[in-house]
Formats: sequence, structure tokens, C-alpha cells
Amino acid sequence: MNSENPVHYSSSHSIATLTMHNAPVNALSKPVRLGLVEGVSRALADDDVNAIVITSNIGFFSGGADISEFAGGDMDPMLPEVLDVIEQSTKPVVAVLPGPAFGGGLELALACHYRITHVGNKVGLPEVNLGILPGAGGTQRLPRLVPVPQALEMIVSGKPQKAGSLPTVFDVLVDAPEALEAATLKFINELSASKPLPRTCDLSVDTSAFSDDIFEQFAKSIAKPARGFFAPYKCIEAVKASTQLSFSDGLQKEAELFMECMNTPQARAQQHFFFAERAAGRVKDFDKQTPTREIKQVAVIGAGTMGGGIAMNFANAGIPVVMLELKQEALDKGLALIRKNYEQSAKKGKLSADDVETRMALLTGTTSYKDLSSADLVIEAVFEKMEVKQTVFKALDEVCKPGAILATNTSTLDVNEIAQATTRPEDVIGLHFFSPANVMKLLEVVKADKTSPDVIKTCMQMAKTIRKVAVLVGVCFGFVGNRMIEAYGREANRLMLEGAKPEQIDKVIYDFGLPMGPFTMADMAGLDIGYFVRQSRQEHIEHDPSYCVVADKLVEDGRVGLKAGKGIYLYDAGSRTPVPDPDVVALAQQEAERLGIQQRDISDEEIVERCIYPLINEGALILEEGIAAKASDIDVIYVYGYGFPVYRGGPMKYADEIGLDTVLKAMQKYHDTLGDYGKAWFKPAPLLKSLAERGKTFND
Ligand code: NAD
Repeated sequence: MNSENPVHYSSSHSIATLTMHNAPVNALSKPVRLGLVEGVSRALADDDVNAIVITSNIGFFSGGADISEFAGGDMDPMLPEVLDVIEQSTKPVVAVLPGPAFGGGLELALACHYRITHVGNKVGLPEVNLGILPGAGGTQRLPRLVPVPQALEMIVSGKPQKAGSLPTVFDVLVDAPEALEAATLKFINELSASKPLPRTCDLSVDTSAFSDDIFEQFAKSIAKPARGFFAPYKCIEAVKASTQLSFSDGLQKEAELFMECMNTPQARAQQHFFFAERAAGRVKDFDKQTPTREIKQVAVIGAGTMGGGIAMNFANAGIPVVMLELKQEALDKGLALIRKNYEQSAKKGKLSADDVETRMALLTGTTSYKDLSSADLVIEAVFEKMEVKQTVFKALDEVCKPGAILATNTSTLDVNEIAQATTRPEDVIGLHFFSPANVMKLLEVVKADKTSPDVIKTCMQMAKTIRKVAVLVGVCFGFVGNRMIEAYGREANRLMLEGAKPEQIDKVIYDFGLPMGPFTMADMAGLDIGYFVRQSRQEHIEHDPSYCVVADKLVEDGRVGLKAGKGIYLYDAGSRTPVPDPDVVALAQQEAERLGIQQRDISDEEIVERCIYPLINEGALILEEGIAAKASDIDVIYVYGYGFPVYRGGPMKYADEIGLDTVLKAMQKYHDTLGDYGKAWFKPAPLLKSLAERGKTFND
């Protein structure tokens, strides 16, 4: 065996077996592609070989293309050419899938003459998530093997499917992976030499079973989830081509559409994000040797909005949680709300009635700190007041066992100060969940000055157990996400004073790709939250009398947002739909006059620049200060924590894409044209300046 060749060739019983072993996922990198072509040629040249098996001896059949080659690697031979060699083989080629086949991996299987796997195996074409489409025949071969609506769904959603749900793709579906070998031998032995090889390319697409407007209807049906995305619509075009063109013309069309996608900023952004998410887990604060602590029992202090959601994450992962409140009544209320949430999921068919009970049984309540003595991890989610947090941490220090991790879910307070309330600051860490905590994928793991590496490592790994994406950040006001959003919210508020209507600002930001604009978001969260934060930070903002002045006045008037039926917008009883309120526009006008701010028409372009660029600028400061270790970490925080469109890659990638000089010039323009306000808030971050001047990017 050639140790360089990631495709091992062996032959016995007249069967040549090409075994891919390119860990971790059998990415179809150049050596694998070459190995497959060589293996097939060798088998064809060997008169003793009657059939060829392509399989893998690692967990995956193949995870697909080697994405790192997209950045300009040597692509020869291209995957479509390799698949053509396989499909045109004159000896039968059987794909035997012991594990998942995604993207190019599934396309490889589709080009083989036969496919064998186990019912529970997962297969899919997730290319759309990288801003592209399956470019090795997937959009042409899959509709020849499954009904067109199913092919559309698989290719456009990118979601993996169980092999068992694709009986027309697989010739043999065994119950378990262990049965594959015997089933393969039996299948090959029974193959008739006289029967022509079933080549997928020779099949025709069944166009009888769907209506003429299926593609238009499908495009309409994805309008909401695919808003702003380019690739899903190109996927639809490619599948449509399979129903109208010959196989070879269809492949040609697929290749054109693939290149069209590949050359978009969206594809670059989504591929950046793919790596960003994986890179978030790689941090300098610990290594392979760093031990971890076991987390078998969790405690949550405070059964309010966040405490309840946090507890659910652990119960969902099968980890028991004790919840502590000072009063039984609050505890009962918190537990009842969790039950209600689970029951709602059960009603929607996401959980069974048994699941609800299993999860509830993992959640117990207490009003006594003594019951926390066996917890391995305690997460505090009480009121956002330093005195309250410190009292809680003092109590935890007294009762928790040595080695217990003591975490705070504070959004704004100094984790170092909280740690000081204990005699074991090395065990204290921030675990900043986002609301709703049982839904949002992001977890900011906040390391304080004395947090020990094993506590950090344990928390980063624990995040995976509860299916969160963790990003390690340092201590500062608001950490990464909320610190940056402050600049964005401030500008939205100021633009309202300068003459933009809230609904204009919200629409521009929505069209930019965020799930909602800043005012809809503020109303939903409650305007009082920002108000209290501003109250506690007067020294940082009092130099600017215009700072969120309209929002402050609304809160003081009891208009705290959606929960009050009125905030920036009005809400009809029971409705969450914001209705513009002329009184708020009038209030903004009045305040502008009082503050001597000249109102004017504000362009949509200015709204994007004013809201998004200061957020990026703050991100640059955060990088300089080492609060985030890398620009891509900020992107992960923004996509998973704030719904920043993944097709823009996150704010830092977006800045790289439009050019840091563009951001810098706009910052300087507003600095110079907005008077004292501009001078106070539009100072370009030194990092932004130096990178822009050197023609570099944040992600260089
Ligand atoms: P909440 O008011 O809904 O819940 C707080 C709970 O803590 C209440 O049930 C209260 O009875 C209980 N509590 C108060 N003092 C306590 C004590 N000494 N011991 C035990 N229980 C006590 O608040 P929330 O929105 O869940 O926020 C909790 C924490 O999470 C805050 O630090 C907040 O900044 C942070 N946070 C909130 C959000 C959010 O969007 N709500 C997001 C991230 C972080």
C-alpha cells in the first residue's frame, strides 16, 4: 500500500475495492480524486476483476469537496471528470457507504452504478450553505433517481436525509453498518454479467409527476428562509435544467450556475463563515494536555427568563439541573413556564409527551443553597445588580464543592468583580447566553483575569454538549456582542433625531439582511433594558445630550415596548406587529429642535453606513484590546447571536468585502460633518486605520 495514496486498492474474489482513508471526513482532495481514477483504471485493466467497490474505512464515506482548495488549489482532475470516469466504467462500480456522504461525497455515490448503505445513514447535498450548488452532477443525477420535488427540497434546503427515506437512490439498504460487507458480497455475486450497467446519466427525469409551475412555486415557498440569499435560487435553476436539457447540457448548465455562485461575495462570505465557526473552538488558552472537569450535575440560580432557558439546555442534553430561587413562588412560576415551553414544543410535534416528562424529571427546584453542594457547574442568572451577584457568589463559595465551576450569565457586569466575592476566582467564568437561551445558538464564554485554563476548556466543550457555538471573549462592558450593538443602537436613535423615521431605519436594516431593525428589536427586548443600562453608564454618555433621548423619554412615559403595547411603535392588543406612531416622530422632532439638531432627509445608504460602520469600528477596538482573539470570532458572535446575515459573513467579513478603506473614509466623513456628535462617536479605530492604509483586511 502506498502510504501517500489516500485511496487503498485491494482485490479479492474478483472484486477490486478502493478504500478511501483521508481523515477526518474523506474530503475529496486532489490525491483522493487521483487515487479513485487510478484505482478504477487498474481494476479495468485487471482481467481477474469483475466489479469495483468504492468505500471508506473511516467514519465518513465522504464529507465532500476539500473546501480549502476553493481558494485556488490545483483542481486537476476536477471532480466531475473523475465521476465521469467512474460512471463510464465498463465494470460495475458499487458505492458502499459505511457512514455519511455529503456534497461531493454523495455526488460520487450517485455516479456509481449501484449504491449500498444502512437505513440510518445520513446523506445530503449541503453546498447551498456555502453559497454554491452541487457542482459535480448532483443537480442532474439526483432528479434522475428521486422525484423532482424531493430533489429540489434536498438540494435547496441542504438538509441531510436518512438513507432510508431515499429507497430509489440505494439498491440495498441494510439495517446496520455491520451488515454491509455480507450484503455487498451477496449483491455483487448476484449481479448478472449480461445486464447493462445502470448509469444514472442514462436515466430520464420523470417530468410527469409535478405541475408545470413547480419551480416558481418552490421559489415562492422559500421566500422567507432564503431572503437575501443567491444560491438557493440558482439551485432551483439547476434542477429545472435537469428537466429540460439532456444530461450533458444539464451538466454544462450546472457548471455555469456553479461558477456564477462561486464568484459572488455571498459564496466567499458563507465559506468564510464555515471556517470561522470551526476556528472559534480553537483558542490559545488551553491545549490538548489541559484537563477538563466532569459536568454531571448543574445548578442554575434564578428561574427567570434566562435561568429557565439555560436550565432547559441541560435537561435537553440529559443533565440534571437544580434551580434555586429565594422564594418558592418564583421557583414554581419558573418551573411552570419551562413545562409550558416543553408542552408547546410537544404540541408542534417537536417532542413526545414522554420527552416532556423525562426532561421535567431532570429539573428540580430548591430555595436552599445547601442543595447545591454536589453541583459541578453553577450558572447564576439573577438580577443584573453587582451587589446581588456578589451576594450569590459569596453564598456559592460557602456551599459548592471544591472544583465546582461558578459561572455568571451577566450581560454587562465585570466578571472580575464578581469573582472577587469568592475565595476561588480561578473557578469563576462568564457564560453569556442569549435570549431565548434554549433557542439561541451562541454562547459567549467570558474569561476573567484569574479563570483557569481547565475551566475555560471545560466550558468550551460543555457548549457542544448543549449544542451551542461557544466563542471565547474577554471582560469589558457588554463583552463583544452587546458592546458592539451599543454603537448600532446609538446611531439608530440619533438618526431618528436627525429626521429618519423609525420604520425607514428598520426597513433599511431588514433589507440589509438582519431579521429585524433596531427599533423593532428594542421594543421586543423592552426599552427599559437599554434605559437601565444607560442609567448605570451615565459617565460614559453624559457628554452627549442627544444620546437615546427619545427612547429615554418613552420609557419615562411608561412606553417600554411590546410588553406595554407601546414603545417606539404601537401594538394592537395581542399583536406583535409594529405600527408606526406619529407621536414618536413628533417627539423626535421636538427633541431635535430642543437640541439644535437640524432635521433632514436621510438616505438609505447613510442609514447602513451610520448603523453598521460604527459597529465594525467597535469590533476593531475589541480586536486591538484582545477582547476577541480573531475577527472571525466576532463574525460568529454576530451571525449566531444577532442574526447578522450569514451571506455577508458577519460584520468583520462584510467590512473586508466592501474594503476597509470604504469603512474608514465613511467614518472620517461622519467624524468631520456631524459636529461635536461626529467628533465624539466617529473616531476611527487605530486598527481599522492601519489595516486600511496598508490595504489589508481584518481576516488577513
Ligand atoms: P429575570 O428578572 O427574568 O430573572 C431573574 C430571576 O432571578 C428572577 O426570577 C428572580 O426572582 C431571581 N433572583 C433575583 N435575585 C435572586 C437571588 N438573590 N437568588 C436567587 N434568585 C434570585 O431576569 P433575566 O432576564 O433572566 O436576567 C438574568 C440575568 O441574565 C441578568 O444578569 C441579565 O443581565 C442576564 N441576561 C439577560 C438576557 C435577556 O435578554 N433577558 C440576555 C443575556 C443575559
